[in-house]
Amino acid sequence: MNTYQRALKTWGKEPQMLQVIEEMSELTKEILKNINRKKDNVAELIEETADVEIMLEQLKCCYGIKDAVEKYKAEKLVKINQRLDEWEKTHDRAAS
Ligand SMILES: [Mg+2]
Repeated sequence: MNTYQRALKTWGKEPQMLQVIEEMSELTKEILKNINRKKDNVAELIEETADVEIMLEQLKCCYGIKDAVEKYKAEKLVKINQRLDEWEKTHDRAAS
């Protein structure tokens, strides 16, 4: 049993899923401070990003969706790459 599974088993699925939301809101807050208040908070961004990633791993464990998320993510990245290619084509043409 990995750490994510242990955390879910020990502290329960509902509390851990609420923790996902809490950590996402903490990261949201740090991003807003960085952009809106020009705050030098890279240390906080690192900490909250790690917290969110840990909680997202637990979310994937909780719902048994790790492989499905990986698959969707790979497909999405292909589409994003295609959009970037299109963007670069149109914008390169304008610049040159
Ligand atoms: Mg946190």
